[in-house]
Amino acid sequence: MRLLFLGPPGAGKGTQAEAVAHAKGIAHVSTGEMFRRHVSEGTVLGEEVKAIMDRGDLVPDTVTIAMLHERIGQADAADGYILDGFPRTLHQADSLDAEIGEDALDAVVILDVAEDELVNRMLSRGRADDTEESVRNRLAVYRTDTEPLKELYSNRGIALTVSGLGEVADITGRILESLDSLTKTRP
Ligand code: ADP
Repeated sequence: MRLLFLGPPGAGKGTQAEAVAHAKGIAHVSTGEMFRRHVSEGTVLGEEVKAIMDRGDLVPDTVTIAMLHERIGQADAADGYILDGFPRTLHQADSLDAEIGEDALDAVVILDVAEDELVNRMLSRGRADDTEESVRNRLAVYRTDTEPLKELYSNRGIALTVSGLGEVADITGRILESLDSLTKTRP
């Protein structure tokens, strides 16, 4: 099973993707986490992306696409994965289609949370890139670059919108239920 989680920064994508990956026994592939690991380990790539991430801008597509390509080729991704934080641009979405095929995704889970709530959540989370300026920028980048992907996947009939409000476990339950109903309505 191959899933994609889409939603604004602060929606809880990472937490939910992790929980659902665990429930389904598939790999959790988070580009944000991969970049943060490079930064904390001080790799060449980490040096390159640190300032970009602190500003809340997107890492250049070529860098991100190469990293993702390598990651989904690893053994633990062979039986399926959840992509979390990728694709984030139409160009990344095209490259994903080219790599795995247009029909390869089983579902795209869109986590829906109101904007005021997103800002509050991120400012209380305290990650290095969770300053007010970076948060505002990430929301703006999300709206311009990433939000158009909702339409792309809705048009393919594989988008599931799930409310990201409430208790973490309840949200996970809602996601798992809507994934079940999707597989039941399909031949
Ligand atoms: P959030 O969704 O809260 O912004 P992520 O962990 O998904 O957090 O991403 C953190 C940062 O990592 C982004 O602001 C961006 O700089 C970088 N990043 C992650 N995924 C991508 C991607 N697919 N393309 C470009 N940059 C990315």
